Amino acid sequence: MSQNITIHDKSFVPFIDAEGINQRVVALAKQINEDYAGKNPLILVILNGSFMFAADLFRKLTIETTISFVRLSSYAGTSSTGAVNTLLGIKEPLTGRHVIIVEDIIDTGKTLASFLPVIAQQEPESVEIATFLVKPTALKYPVHARYVAFEIEDRFVVGYGLDYDELGRNLPNLYVLA
Ligand code: 5GP
Ligand code: MG
Repeated sequence: MSQNITIHDKSFVPFIDAEGINQRVVALAKQINEDYAGKNPLILVILNGSFMFAADLFRKLTIETTISFVRLSSYAGTSSTGAVNTLLGIKEPLTGRHVIIVEDIIDTGKTLASFLPVIAQQEPESVEIATFLVKPTALKYPVHARYVAFEIEDRFVVGYGLDYDELGRNLPNLYVLA
């Protein structure tokens, strides 16, 4: 497996390698293919962190499906106006659609807890969450992800799309703060 790395001022150690990640992504895609056959789900990707997970997951979906992207600014959780503004990035109406939100990581759950009501306003047929990572012990808001690649302890991770101050997103393996 890979070596320890330094990003900015911090050291990170190997945590989950690309092969381990791929195995879980394959398993999640299989589940989604079964659960959503004939339902044409809309994959709603929350940028930036989840772009790599979303791309790997999406290419393994064999069902009819569409994809759209939304970027939530850091203040989206504190004002509904902020969250609604970010939704303007979505061209497709969500009404009547089966929506699968794709996230990189659920930490406190605040981001998704503020975003879900905005989605619900458009009256989708169903809404589920697919997340690469979840930190169960850090969860403070009632957010449940149906599809989870890995549950991890409450430690800071980088790689596979996730950044430390914008660096490290390109790493194919996941690292954890030493
Ligand atoms: P929440 O709103 O669930 O508390 O936070 C979710 C967001 O916090 C994620 O989308 C991500 O941007 C950031 N985040 C939380 N934990 C980590 C982590 O361990 N590493 C990185 N790179 N970002 C994290
Ligand atoms: Mg994020």
